Parts: sequence; C-alpha cells; structure tokens
Amino acid sequence: MSLRLGTPRQKEEKAEVDVLIIGAGPAAFGAALYSARYKMSVLVVGEFLGGQLNNTSEIENYLGFERISASELIGRFRKHVESYGVKIIQDRISEVKRDGEGFLATTKRGMKIRSKAVIIAIGLKRRTLGVPGEKEFVGRGVSYCSICDAALFKDADAVAVVGGGDSAMEGATLLSSYAKKVFLIHRRSEFRAQPILVEEVKSKPNIELVLDTVVTEILGDKSVTGIRVKNLKTGEERVIPVKGVFLEIGFEPDLPFIQNLGLETDDYGFIKVHGYMETNVKGIFAAGDCTDLWKAFRQIITAAAQGSVAAHGAYGYVEELKLKDKKTPSSP
Ligand code: NAP
Repeated sequence: MSLRLGTPRQKEEKAEVDVLIIGAGPAAFGAALYSARYKMSVLVVGEFLGGQLNNTSEIENYLGFERISASELIGRFRKHVESYGVKIIQDRISEVKRDGEGFLATTKRGMKIRSKAVIIAIGLKRRTLGVPGEKEFVGRGVSYCSICDAALFKDADAVAVVGGGDSAMEGATLLSSYAKKVFLIHRRSEFRAQPILVEEVKSKPNIELVLDTVVTEILGDKSVTGIRVKNLKTGEERVIPVKGVFLEIGFEPDLPFIQNLGLETDDYGFIKVHGYMETNVKGIFAAGDCTDLWKAFRQIITAAAQGSVAAHGAYGYVEELKLKDKKTPSSP
C-alpha cells in the first residue's frame, strides 16, 4: 500500500523556485531538508509520499531508530521538511524543458514550475518477469509486494516468492508466518540479500529454497493455482502448486519525462552522476535509487544522504546563477 499525498492545495497553477525536487522518497526528503537549510526556495513534487519506503514495513537500520515503522518514518520526514516551510505537491512531472539558464517543468495536472535547478529523486519502477500468466493474474494471486499482500494468504497451503535480494528474503520470512509453506525461487544459488536476512529465511522450517531455478509460467483459472519452473542446471521442468506468487525481483529506472533533456544514463538506464550528484546537464542533479551511484547498496540512509549532497550541489549552482544575474547589467 502506498501512501498518497493529501489532495493538493494547488490553487496556484504556476510556481517559481530555486530548486524543484522531483520525487517524494528518502532522497527527495534529504534534498528538501538541505535545500531549505541553504535558504533556497524549494518545491517537492511527487506521486507517492515515501516512495519505495512504502514497500517495507519495519525499519531497523536507519540511524537513530532501533526500530520504526515505514509509515512513521515517512511522517517524520514530512514533518521535518515542512517545519522549514517546504511545500509538497502530489502530482507527476510529465515534462522538464530548458528555459534560459533554468528549467520549466509541467505536471500531469498542468501546473507550470520554473526553477533554477532540478533534483531528480524519482526512485525506480517495479521490474516484471514477463512470463505467460503474469499480467493475467495480477491481483488474483500475482503480487509485487509481499508486505502489502501477505495477510491475504493466511492459511494458504503454499505460496512462492521469486528473487534473491533483500525484498525477497523479507517477503519470504513474512509470508512464512501466514502461509503453511513458502517456496523461495531464485535463479542463482547465491543470494545478493544481506546475510542476516538470508539467515532468517534459512531458519524457517516452512520455507523451501528452490535455487538455480526460474519461473517460466504462472498457471491458474480464476486465480493462481501454480507456477511452472525450470532448473537452469538440469533443465528439469515441473509445476509447483501455489495460491500466490510474489515477484520480488527488484526495480528499474523510469525516466520518460526527461529523455528530451539528453541526460546521460548507464547501460541499464540509471542516471549517471558525479561530484555533488551532478548529471551531465548543468543545473540538473539526481539522487537516490534512480542514479548509477552505489547501485549494489540501496538503503534509506544512502538515499537520504545522496539527496543532501545533491542539495549542496544545487546550492552551488543556484548561487553561481544569482551572482551572474547581479553582474549582468539589466537592459534599459
Ligand atoms: P534487488 O536487490 O535488485 O534484487 C532483485 C532480485 O531479483 C535479485 O536476486 C535478482 O537476481 C532477481 N531478479 C531480477 N530480475 C529477475 C528476473 N527477470 N527473473 C528472476 N529473478 C530476477 O531488489 P530488491 O530485493 O527489491 O531490493 C531493492 C533495493 O532495496 C536493494 O538495494 C536492497 O538492498 C534494498 N532493500 C533493503 C532492505 C533492507 O535494508 N531491509 C529491504 C528491502 C530492500 P540476481 O541476484 O541473480 O541478479
């Protein structure tokens, strides 16, 4: 379940700010806090308050909090930045264009925002498996969020979780307390997840690891009844009867609205950043999961930190522009 931002108090159809922050997750909040403390005018535009933080329930690795729920942390982030007068608008940016030395962004609802700098902190979109049956059974046994949907499978005979990262481990552990049996399907025999999470999975007697294996089809009638899997080492195929299949296979970039800006990305579509989270386009900064930085280590704390660094970079850029404006004599 994603927390939607409140109905926008969007009386103004136009805004002009020093820095526009696109996204509303930890990177965006880190950027907003530091931008505000640098005394820049800031606007945050994002669809979902908390971003990918909504895909987790309890957090035990954010410094200063031994354990905190995702929704409480999101609430604290919001309260903190709003205490500096930062405005958060629920909307989706549909286009960003160059406008002189700055930028002009348009939102889905038609709001126009001029800014000197832009910080892109849009996170990632969910990856899909692309196998037969996946699309057909979304919401009827196929889920992309164990945390959101685990409780729906209380007392189910069996469910499957696909993936070998942190989300798959957390998902399998959570599901093991609802379903009678959990199959954890992973395409390799090594896990990329944090060892502590893997250990927890291995300690659950009702989780069965199905390794070196891929799902080739999701089967069902009115809802999911099973998955066809293939062992990549032996070539053996079989059907595992399950009531639910949780695809926890990660995320990928989603950048259609900025393609016209010529932003440089890596081979997988992540925005290339350097220095103080600068992109190749002067005045545009990026932070968090949508960047190519620390791709193998995505955490709330690293996203928030990248946001703060991007704000520092944006501040330098905005100050440079202001200085330039002062030096340029105004036309008669
Ligand atoms: P992830 O780390 O990208 O892992 C995705 C997993 O899915 C990988 O094991 C990958 O296999 C597998 N996969 C990808 N595409 C696949 C396909 N087409 N078919 C089969 N398997 C496929 O994603 P995540 O687990 O959602 O985590 C995302 C980020 O959030 C990570 O940086 C993670 O550390 C972070 N996170 C942290 C926590 C926490 O700290 N408690 C909790 C959740 C998430 P390979 O391993 O073979 O590539």
